[in-house]
Amino acid sequence: METACTFKNSQNCFYVFFLIAAPLLLSSCVVIRTAPKIEQPPSAVKSPARPSAKPEIRSAARPSAASRGFRTHIVAPGETLWRISKIYDVPLASIMSTNRVKGDQDLQLGQTLNIPSAKEPEQIITLYPSHKWKYIVVHHSATDEGSSLQFHSYHQNKGWDSVGYHFVIDNGKSGKPDGFIEITPRWLQQLDGAHCKASEMNTKAIGICLVGDFNKSEPTKAQKDSLAFLVKKLQRYYKIHAHKILGHKQVPGSNTECPGKNFPWSWFKKQL
Ligand SMILES: [Zn+2]
Repeated sequence: METACTFKNSQNCFYVFFLIAAPLLLSSCVVIRTAPKIEQPPSAVKSPARPSAKPEIRSAARPSAASRGFRTHIVAPGETLWRISKIYDVPLASIMSTNRVKGDQDLQLGQTLNIPSAKEPEQIITLYPSHKWKYIVVHHSATDEGSSLQFHSYHQNKGWDSVGYHFVIDNGKSGKPDGFIEITPRWLQQLDGAHCKASEMNTKAIGICLVGDFNKSEPTKAQKDSLAFLVKKLQRYYKIHAHKILGHKQVPGSNTECPGKNFPWSWFKKQL
């Protein structure tokens, strides 16, 4: 502060600082949203490497007998070295030295990282205290394959900041394992979605997209398992009633077949 301050008298300097800072401090007291339990740098790919606190929850445990081995990982939007190290249960330093990267700022979207001595990937799901999320809306991608990375560039071409969903559940055809839950920058930064304009769902609904065209096929078993796991965790944490967990086409005002005529509704409703 000393160097930035142009006042000769330090008492005056403090007084002016207080006048500027006090409204900001006071205004922050009335913000309902509290800090995330899990600190995760926003705009993760460009931010410096910084280990975060322990994640709130994890997915179903990786196979206990899983052996370690060499794996590769394609960097997706929002992923950090910390997150990737947790996914494969390997030291951060190991990934950095193997791939000659010094921090998240060196990561490129779509870059393939070599992961030595990696375990089966385990999904790390971060939950943020919030009163924002009142609904969950489930989508299909209406494509045979896809990933957070692919939807990210597709949605950016439409003029959006990033992939429109909060979560993407892969089907194993685009570089990530079948059933893998990808967390997008919108979730990491707790931003509105860009997945359902109807009934203003973008402002209040968590958007989950399963990769696949469920007018032609059905979700894989791994996708269903991950969807049930994820929705139950979100439902419990944010206290979302079952009748507020919808398919896209069930949202009043929507005009779509999403998530497809083969989406397994009877099975899904039993999970809630
Ligand atoms: Zn949809």
